[in-house]
Amino acid sequence: MQDFDIVIGLEVHAELKTNSKVFCSCKNQFGQAPNTNCCPVCVGLPGALPVINKKAIELVIKAGLTMGCEINELAIFERKNYFYPDLAKAYQISQLVRPICLGGHIELKDKDVRLNRIHLEEDAGKLVHGTQAIGTLIDYNRGGVPLMELVTEPDITSADEAVEFLTKLRQKLIYAGVAECKMEQGGMRCDVNISVKPKGSDKLGQRTEMKNLNSFKSVYRAINYEANRQIEIIKNGGQIVQETRKWDDNHEKSISMRKKETSSDYRYFPDPDMLAVEIPREDVERIRKSLPLMPDQLKAKFINEYGLSEYESDILTKEKDLADYYNDVLSHYNQPKIVSNWILTEILNKVKDEESEEIKISPCDLAKILKLVEDKTVTRTNAKEMLTRVWENGEKVEALVKEFGGNVDEEALKTLVENIIKNNPKAVEDYKTSDTPEKVFRWFTGQVMKETRGKANAAKAEEYIRELLK
Ligand code: ADP
Ligand code: MG
Ligand code: ZN
Repeated sequence: MQDFDIVIGLEVHAELKTNSKVFCSCKNQFGQAPNTNCCPVCVGLPGALPVINKKAIELVIKAGLTMGCEINELAIFERKNYFYPDLAKAYQISQLVRPICLGGHIELKDKDVRLNRIHLEEDAGKLVHGTQAIGTLIDYNRGGVPLMELVTEPDITSADEAVEFLTKLRQKLIYAGVAECKMEQGGMRCDVNISVKPKGSDKLGQRTEMKNLNSFKSVYRAINYEANRQIEIIKNGGQIVQETRKWDDNHEKSISMRKKETSSDYRYFPDPDMLAVEIPREDVERIRKSLPLMPDQLKAKFINEYGLSEYESDILTKEKDLADYYNDVLSHYNQPKIVSNWILTEILNKVKDEESEEIKISPCDLAKILKLVEDKTVTRTNAKEMLTRVWENGEKVEALVKEFGGNVDEEALKTLVENIIKNNPKAVEDYKTSDTPEKVFRWFTGQVMKETRGKANAAKAEEYIRELLK
């Protein structure tokens, strides 16, 4: 591998987060009974006419703005002709000469990966392969779901970089509300174009393409396998054939599918059913203003305004849901550092122990518990216990306070402290003579907490102990 450079360009498809499909009013919803979410337009009956979903255009613009793309003033739709059973019209409405977005880039740790374009197209139906007796069935529910396709320049040079790129892209799309990118549902899929060349050469090698990879892991493996395959061929004096290869994740190898088609094979031509779409600059500016903070910006805010470390901010911004949760807790209890500590330890430990990613305590309830700790109504230890009870049984914080909070009344607490001091003359003596009286003092508060099983109001207990030790 050392003698060769690897060159990778990605084509990434993401299903857009709209309510309805891109050219008809059928629902854009995953997991419905097969063929229940279809109409003459999205199964491609002759004569049915597409009507563009403005929201889909807006989402592609949004995506582009988060990646510094130029937004074309006029977007044009073409027919991309090919026959396949999941595409009943035998053409896909897509974009070739005037996509919605041009250029742009995504910043990685060590480099910027340039983008070529982002365009809007329709998804195809889904083939469901049954047993031999049943054969293959087609579910057209996915047909006409809006898809954005992003094409990079061949700037990526390793499997690690490809995964870093996809991770960043996915994060941006989710943060901007453009797509949910649920990989396991096919909501984000990736075609990998890859070639190799002698180290340092500026002439690109012949490439192959692997289509429709739907996990980061398979992208990673596919790249390494395919790079090695190409290098072996070249080392043995052979030549790479430009072709489309299928990645078989189970057997961890790629298999030739067909000679690579080029755009002229698709006989692209402007779709006579589609008007060109004008994109006024005011709309672009309005959309730009509506963008939420992107992960990198949010991370900077957490560091600069909230005083969190790089490490903490990284974890809190990795998934939008977690960042939202954090912000939500802060809106009830504005202590960025304390809240971050609790989320990074208690909350994430609990999430890790479970299968689902769900945080089973509302931001408001977590805030309530943290406030109880702050005003010393409950100890930290008991607060964790309360958190567990809310998490596991959905108990109410208010009810738990009665059990865990300062329900040792003041008289009882006073008596308890008196007794502890009376029964431990040695410790009292220590307190008075020790170089580190605070250590002895903490031993006394420890005794009180032990006796009350943590329920005593710590502030009050400390006050009484100090009083009596004077
Ligand atoms: P096509 O339309 O035939 O798929 P494009 O020129 O649009 O071809 O390129 C598709 C993808 O392939 C892009 O991401 C591009 O960066 C990448 N690519 C092009 N040439 C090479 C190459 N020699 N090696 C690796 N990737 C390449
Ligand atoms: Mg392609
Ligand atoms: Zn429809």
